[in-house]
Amino acid sequence: MTLRLFNTLSGQLDPLVPSDGQALRMYACGPTVYDYGHIGNFRTFLQVDVLRRFLKLTGVHVRHVMNITDVDDKIIRNAAQAGIPISEYTPRFVDAFFEDLEALRIERPEQIARATEHIPRMVELIQRLAAAGAAYKTEDGSWYFRLAAFPEYGKLSKKDLSGMEDGARVDVDEYEKDSARDFALWKAAKPGETAWQTPIGLGRPGWHIECSAMAMEYLGDSFDLHAGGEDLMFPHHENEIAQSESVTHKPFARHWMHVRFLLVDGRKMSKSEGNFFTLRDLLLKGYKASAIRLALISVPYRHQLNFTFDGLTEATNAIERLRTFHQRITTGSYAAGSNPALQAAAEKAKAEYMAALANDLNTAEARAPIFDLIRTSNTAIDQGQLFAADRDAILTVLADFDAVFDVIEDRDAEPTRRAIAWAEQAGRLAEVAPELLSRQSLSDEAIDALVVERTLAKRQRNFARADQIRNELADKGIVLEDAKDGVRWKRK
Ligand SMILES: [Zn+2]
Repeated sequence: MTLRLFNTLSGQLDPLVPSDGQALRMYACGPTVYDYGHIGNFRTFLQVDVLRRFLKLTGVHVRHVMNITDVDDKIIRNAAQAGIPISEYTPRFVDAFFEDLEALRIERPEQIARATEHIPRMVELIQRLAAAGAAYKTEDGSWYFRLAAFPEYGKLSKKDLSGMEDGARVDVDEYEKDSARDFALWKAAKPGETAWQTPIGLGRPGWHIECSAMAMEYLGDSFDLHAGGEDLMFPHHENEIAQSESVTHKPFARHWMHVRFLLVDGRKMSKSEGNFFTLRDLLLKGYKASAIRLALISVPYRHQLNFTFDGLTEATNAIERLRTFHQRITTGSYAAGSNPALQAAAEKAKAEYMAALANDLNTAEARAPIFDLIRTSNTAIDQGQLFAADRDAILTVLADFDAVFDVIEDRDAEPTRRAIAWAEQAGRLAEVAPELLSRQSLSDEAIDALVVERTLAKRQRNFARADQIRNELADKGIVLEDAKDGVRWKRK
């Protein structure tokens, strides 16, 4: 089954296959590590995770490179404000980023490339651009890309840039369409700024050159797919194309994937609007990492997602249904044999699920048949019509679902515990939801001990104590389930 993915460059759905017949070579713009990641950032990383997981599910090998921008305007500004060098400023945000990826179950790319570890490659690329007449040095020692040297500029974002003024320059990393003009490749050192002594002078790279140099370093002059948030399409990706193709004269990336950004409560997310959330903010409010993951991937990547707390609650409930069903079907005992109707239902669910994802990663349509199958299966179990072979077929479908969605197995305790530990360190305990703190105040071992005590109390017919323990645990958000093989518990 071949994925058909919208290609910003061609403006249509194109099949996405490894051009070398071996591995799909893809590059995705990573974080700029000047702060904690917000849910808009993570929506993009999660949708790229959906892409790579689906490719792997269909048997495609993936070679995924992601950069970490650990030098740029904002980092330099923040580090200067904190009065420390950038090499001391960025590490905690790099660590935090990887912790957040893990919390959200985002797979690590095969290759992580840090900008500050690839300065010589960037310098080399600027030298090649200069040799090709596409880069020039200004009096202060900075280097700029000459837009006039690349007539195809604008082909990705389809912007009409005909009114551009030749030779006008912009030196900030991020800018609007109106300032489409010669952009900085290399910024001459300013007093007090981190700088590298190189053959093209003392300075630091611009943001755009980082991605061109590192993508080509690990994936070659031409590769299969470049992904990123839609806000990067212009100028960042347009500049990446110009920088790369001006020296290679080959298509940089054949396929471009852009993830739309999200709204929060119907508005653009912004700190001043009070609707700005990092992953950590949400964990401290008591939302589970799995629910945040599901909420951020359930709307297909090209649709605008309106992120709301109702949406998070819906995701929490959906995961509950999945986990409850998964537990029911794995722990129940089913007679040998099979029910042809259920076998057909499982096959249909699998086919619809795969077809939806193959159609431009339609995660919303992919979810629906799975929940239909759960409903049908629950009814069959209630009626004693589900057999061992049906269980196996259904579990296979759930495994394929979780190969991409990855929310069924409950790994939520650890990210929450870590977020609270972080809040404690950062002096932000006041932001932790009170019910979360009391819930976390019981360790797994303490809960196990109380559960054993309750079982013994019941055996001794001390029902008052047994009920007391149950209520005590319920107060802390621990739910007990009496099953045939003993008592199970889970955190609500
Ligand atoms: Zn980039």
